[in-house]
Amino acid sequence: MKAKETLHTRLYNFNPGPAALPLSVLEEVKHTTVEYGGRGISLMEMSHRSKPVEALVHTAEQQLLEQMELASGYRALFMGGGASMQFAMLPLNLLTKGAAADYILSGSFSEKAEQEARYIGQTRIAASTKASNWQQVPDVRDISIPADSAYVHITTNNTIEGSRFNAFPRTGDVPLIADMTSDLLSRRIDYRQFDMIYAGAQKNIGPAGITAVIIREELLARCSQQIPLIWRYETYASNDSLYNTPPVHTLYVLERMLQWTKQQGGIDQIEERNRAKAALLYAMIDGSDGFYKGMIDAEHRSDMNVTWRLPSEELERQFVLEAEQRGFIGLAGHRSVGGLRASVYNAVPVAACEALADFMREFMNKH
Ligand SMILES: *Cc1c(COP(=O)(O)O)cnc(C)c1O
Repeated sequence: MKAKETLHTRLYNFNPGPAALPLSVLEEVKHTTVEYGGRGISLMEMSHRSKPVEALVHTAEQQLLEQMELASGYRALFMGGGASMQFAMLPLNLLTKGAAADYILSGSFSEKAEQEARYIGQTRIAASTKASNWQQVPDVRDISIPADSAYVHITTNNTIEGSRFNAFPRTGDVPLIADMTSDLLSRRIDYRQFDMIYAGAQKNIGPAGITAVIIREELLARCSQQIPLIWRYETYASNDSLYNTPPVHTLYVLERMLQWTKQQGGIDQIEERNRAKAALLYAMIDGSDGFYKGMIDAEHRSDMNVTWRLPSEELERQFVLEAEQRGFIGLAGHRSVGGLRASVYNAVPVAACEALADFMREFMNKH
C-alpha cells in the first residue's frame, strides 16, 4: 500500500546520480529552506563564518569519520567541484616531479582519473580489464607496485559498468587512494587500508555540489607546497573546509543524510538491505532463461548499479518506455555502454526494487 501511495507523488527513482534521497530528509530540509535553527533566516542566506555553519561542518566531519570507523588519524574535508575535480586535484597534491602514479583500470571513471593525472605527471597502468570490455574487475590481491610509486588509485565501484572490487591491493608504504563515489557507506569495507578516499556526494551521501575527501593526516603533511592554496588538501584541513565559501546548504543536506544513515542502523544494516535489494534484481535476471543478461561476471557484480541487457536494442527501448509509464525512472544504461541499469543506492527503498522485479517479470512474460 505504502509504495503505491508514494507512487502518486514520488516516482521509483533508479537514477545513477544525482540520485534518490530519503523522503524524510527532503521533508526535513523543506522546512529549514526558509528558516534555520531559530535564526530567522535560512542557511543559504547565512555567512559561512557564522557559528551554525561552523557547527555544521564539524558535525558532518565527525559523523562521516565515525561511520567509516576512522575517528582517529584521518580528516574529512568538504569541497565543490565533484569527484571529477579530484581526478586532477589528487595528482596535483601527490604526484611529485619525477615520480609516477599507478592506476588500476576497471571502468570508464577510472580511465578518466588516469587521463587527468597525465596532465600533471607520469602514470602507469597497474592492472586493467579494458580488453575484456570491463566485464570483470582486475584481480589486484597480488599486484606488485614499485616501492617508489607516488600512489595507487582504484575505483572501488564502477558506476557505469555495474561492477565492484571485493578485495583490495596491499600497497605497503605506497598510499592507496580510492574513488568511492558510488559505494561509500553502502557496504562494510576496512576503510583504514586506504590513505585517501573521495566521493562526490550525489550517489550515497547527499545532493550534487559537494565532495568528501577523507585523508590520512600523515598524507596531508606530504602534499605539494608548489600549487595554489585553493588546490591544496592542507588548506581545506587547516581551515576546517571553510577556507572559502563551501556550498553550505548542500553540506547541510549531506549532514542530514549522514544522520539518516546512522538512524538506519549504520553500515551493517545498510549493507544487508543493499544486498537484498540487488539480489532481487539479479535473481530476476538470472532466472529469466536468457531474456535478461547481466553485463558483469557474477562474482564482480555491484550491489549499487545493476546492469543488464535484453535480446535487442529495440526491446531495451521498449523496456525503458513502459517502465517510465509505470513510474520507474533512470533505467536506461549509460550512453557509452547501452543496455539497462538500475542504480540502487542507500536511499532507494526495498519496495522500489520489489516493484521493479515484478515489472521485469511482467515485461518478460509479455514479450
Ligand atoms: C559519478 C562518479 C564520478 C563523477 O562524479 P562528479 O561529481 O560528476 O564529478 C566519478 N567517479 C565515480 C565512481 C562516479 O560514480
